[in-house]
Amino acid sequence: MTFKLPKLNYSYEALEPHIDKLTMETHHLKHHQTYVDNFNKALDGHEKYQEMEIEDILKSLEELPEDIKTAVRNNGGGHYNHTIFWEIMSPNGGGKPVGELAKKIDEDFGGFDRFKEDFKAAALGQFGSGWAWLVLDSNNKLAIVSTPNQDNPISEGKKPLLGIDVWEHAYYLKYKNKRADYIDSWWNVVDWEKVSERFNEVK
Ligand code: MN
Repeated sequence: MTFKLPKLNYSYEALEPHIDKLTMETHHLKHHQTYVDNFNKALDGHEKYQEMEIEDILKSLEELPEDIKTAVRNNGGGHYNHTIFWEIMSPNGGGKPVGELAKKIDEDFGGFDRFKEDFKAAALGQFGSGWAWLVLDSNNKLAIVSTPNQDNPISEGKKPLLGIDVWEHAYYLKYKNKRADYIDSWWNVVDWEKVSERFNEVK
């Protein structure tokens, strides 16, 4: 089995004006495709890992053979992170979570606005390339974490529910150096229904 670039559930221009068409197209067809290709290359000849779910590979990075560990961490991580990213965005996104996830956000962060502030601070504070995440941690609490490069919180035993890509390739064409403006605009495409589904699957 080889890993494949997932199809998007919307067109490249669908997230305009928040994320522009050229950024989406380049990000999916070039950046994500390259992670997929390099992930498959790293696993070439390692059938055991080719048959595994990507989550299980990333959960046990330390057990990987030394010669492929870094390539899998970077490119397997890149594939997994972007797959989540496409999935939790939608042209019909925005607004607020409802139901159990909303309640849990209130409990664990002291309200949705407070959560958004903390999440933005984590996304802004990630120095250089990386991601900010909403996760469910091992104590069953929601938490915000940031990760460098293409690391994913799943490798730290946390369950990622929502993530924002803050590599410059995710926003530079439209927002230039203004990462804060990209984050503010990105909330408009977050698909809270999908994030709730992810929460219900792991809680
Ligand atoms: Mn990216």
